[in-house]
Amino acid sequence: MSLIVQKFGGTSVGSPDRINSVADRVCATTRSGHGVVAVVSAMGDTTDDLIQLAEAITPDPPAREMDMLLTAGERITMALLAMAISARGVEAMSLTGSQAGILTDGTHGAARIREIRGDRIQEGLARGKVVIVAGFQGVDPTSKEITTIGRGGSDATAVALAATLGADVCEIYTDVDGVFAADPRVVPAAVKLAEISYDEMLELSASGAGVLMTRAVEFGRRFNIPIHVRSSFNENAGTWVKETTMEQAIISGIAHDRSEAKLTVRGVPDKPGVAADLFEPLAEGGVNVDMIVQNIGHDGSTDISFTVPKAVVTHAAEVTTKVSHELGAQTVEVDENIGKVSLIGAGMKSHPGVAARVFRALAEAAINIEMISTSTIRISCIVRGDQVDEAVAALHREFQPPLVAEEVGA
Ligand code: ADP
Ligand code: ASP
Ligand code: MG
Repeated sequence: MSLIVQKFGGTSVGSPDRINSVADRVCATTRSGHGVVAVVSAMGDTTDDLIQLAEAITPDPPAREMDMLLTAGERITMALLAMAISARGVEAMSLTGSQAGILTDGTHGAARIREIRGDRIQEGLARGKVVIVAGFQGVDPTSKEITTIGRGGSDATAVALAATLGADVCEIYTDVDGVFAADPRVVPAAVKLAEISYDEMLELSASGAGVLMTRAVEFGRRFNIPIHVRSSFNENAGTWVKETTMEQAIISGIAHDRSEAKLTVRGVPDKPGVAADLFEPLAEGGVNVDMIVQNIGHDGSTDISFTVPKAVVTHAAEVTTKVSHELGAQTVEVDENIGKVSLIGAGMKSHPGVAARVFRALAEAAINIEMISTSTIRISCIVRGDQVDEAVAALHREFQPPLVAEEVGA
């Protein structure tokens, strides 16, 4: 018997009707002879609503209690789905992350999955049950505390479970038909990709394509689990994320990200050690710095700009201001109205001229580029926040991804 892990995202379980149709799908899968482990997200916007509730109580809730609160979202869905499946005459059992043996480190809100002891899942499957696991959560075995693994984390729960249980495939059911060449809500003309390699999907996810959490793709790549991203609203084939693809796209897609802010330190002394002095305290404070640009120095001083997640910008600005004083820098400016657009494609490393076309396309759309960073398979530009959609559209017009080798022409 083959085993399938099916993960259902927030919109897909957003109402009793939606939960009933998820139950129909799970039961149909078991009727075709497959074992099913279902991983569920919280219903609709429940996680956001719970965060708002906490903020209404206090601006700075303890991280432990925040995790106790947020894990409740997925518990509601898992029990309702178990009820819906049982009502269809198929035995089902729901488990919290902790009951399912998902062991994490102790970092509340961003815990890493260390190990999965799936005994209770295996037991349930052996008895012919559908096992439903609450996504996005686990337990730190040392402190016995409940943890969450980061926004969008149910994707990672599902792929990690698929790896541990030796599932044949991990299906990610969501509210779009698969992975598109750009967010279909921003570029309605974007096409669905039939398949994409782990490496390219990793860059798309890490560059802001929220359709699949980055760490889910990492698990998929590490354990070679085929991931099928598809719609919970229809039976269409979606996108296969897997090791090798039929043809290597020069450009596979465009991602955008509005979750970062830019800090600029003006008038930093232009001498050895200054960058280290600036970024060491940020690293020690757990701040993830993404792009960095240092300008050419004039009269012994220079400006340094860098981006950090908006979620930690206040903390990052405090740390930076303190160090800047010590370094004798002039000012620290915070700019939250920025966004990042990224062009991704494994074939771009062997096709020169892609970067120049990106810059020209943005220029023709009258979009100013504030920062640039590249990897072998990605080009990212920081632009004004209110020009992000336009920038994505301009790059889509220019490259029409997926752009494969044969189509390049000259
Ligand atoms: P779920 O609740 O099912 O996990 P998410 O909201 O996390 O769903 O992810 C699905 C959303 O991801 C889509 O509604 C879409 O707007 C967004 N998205 C961003 N980039 C892409 C892309 N390249 N392809 C498909 N969807 C994308
Ligand atoms: N409910 C969590 C979130 O909204 C986890 C998930 O949906 O994957 O981030
Ligand atoms: Mg998601």
